[in-house]
Amino acid sequence: MGIWSRFKRFKVHPPSHQKCSDVASSSRFTRHSPQRQFVRIPVLIFVLLTTPVPVQAGPASSTADNSPTIRLLIGQDLQRAVVYGTSMRVEKQNEKGWQSVIDRINILAFSPGPGGVRLDGSDVVAPVIRIKPGTGRLMYEDRPYRGHMTILNDSGGLKVVVHMPLEAYLSGTVNGEIDSSWPMDAVKAQVVAARSYALYRINISAPDYDLKTDVTDLVYAGAGSEDDRAIKAVDMTRGQALYNNGDLIQAFFHSTCGGRTTSALEAWGLAQPAQEGIYCGECEDAPYARWNLPLENWQIISAVKTLYPRLDHISSMGIHRRTTDGRVQTLFVETGEGRVLVDAGEFRKIVGYRRLPSTKFSLGMSGDRIILMGEGYGHGVGLCQWGARGSALKGMDYRKILSKYYPGTEIRRAY
Ligand SMILES: [Zn+2]
Repeated sequence: MGIWSRFKRFKVHPPSHQKCSDVASSSRFTRHSPQRQFVRIPVLIFVLLTTPVPVQAGPASSTADNSPTIRLLIGQDLQRAVVYGTSMRVEKQNEKGWQSVIDRINILAFSPGPGGVRLDGSDVVAPVIRIKPGTGRLMYEDRPYRGHMTILNDSGGLKVVVHMPLEAYLSGTVNGEIDSSWPMDAVKAQVVAARSYALYRINISAPDYDLKTDVTDLVYAGAGSEDDRAIKAVDMTRGQALYNNGDLIQAFFHSTCGGRTTSALEAWGLAQPAQEGIYCGECEDAPYARWNLPLENWQIISAVKTLYPRLDHISSMGIHRRTTDGRVQTLFVETGEGRVLVDAGEFRKIVGYRRLPSTKFSLGMSGDRIILMGEGYGHGVGLCQWGARGSALKGMDYRKILSKYYPGTEIRRAY
């Protein structure tokens, strides 16, 4: 099904002000994460501060935490990283292990240098530097974090990694992904799915970290986002994860499916057990259950040109292939040199995940503009978060919700 637009032979010169936003998104549309700000501090900072930096302790889990440690990448490709805390301890890595280099410090700044990471204002250089909190939490980019941090040099840019117990981490994902004020069974379903996803990633981790903190992995809103309901949902499901035929699953989830979820195989070409498309029917209340996105011709041309830089004009576009649940897999674009295919997921990424909420859309025309008329928000694989909310409001408990969206799975204690 295609739409033949009234494209003239548009020149491919996007306006200089065009910017394709790729902002992390979540189901929690009514509240937004604090804007990240780079903290500028004076050059000479390697001094012991006499005034402690206030770091809120926040609510604490009622259970002693012996869960696996997760490593979160919270900064990368940095030429400068600043960490705050109260009475922090700094250790450097050498052949014998970790060696303490300074204690009871409240502000630290790092930069990449020959030999690894340089602690500004000192002669300390090491491949990896570890920062342990004294009292309270470590702060990075105005956010408090549980656990300790490591700073490492990766090809000339710094990476900042937080290490914390998985259960404590999960408490900080609830309000990044959904809203802890939702029905408790919906919150618990999200927590068990997130725990499964995170555990799976711990088991197959990359060398330096396990997860990112944005929409490409699992949105982590920081220790400051934890509240009593989020902690309660984590505690009540402690250690519970989703298994299929005895194997932990990488449980994907998304905001709003728009009626039916889709299979990981159709969405990404990845076979994922227990994540076939199912009928949801419970996410009609979601803000993005239905949406329209008008796009100017130059915006479409600019997006396609990102993938095919040599294109000089586009005469028409349409839908080439859909998944069985109606999501666009590929678009086609007619050019002077012939037809090219555009992966719909790539197109969404270029236009912006927030701006183009899903690939479940059809095409229409309004004047000279193309209108994308769509349903849902997110990739559509696994748990539909607004569907879990709708299911819980109808009285379904979290176990039934999870077996609905991950058919064939069972809940087990992972630890
Ligand atoms: Zn749904």
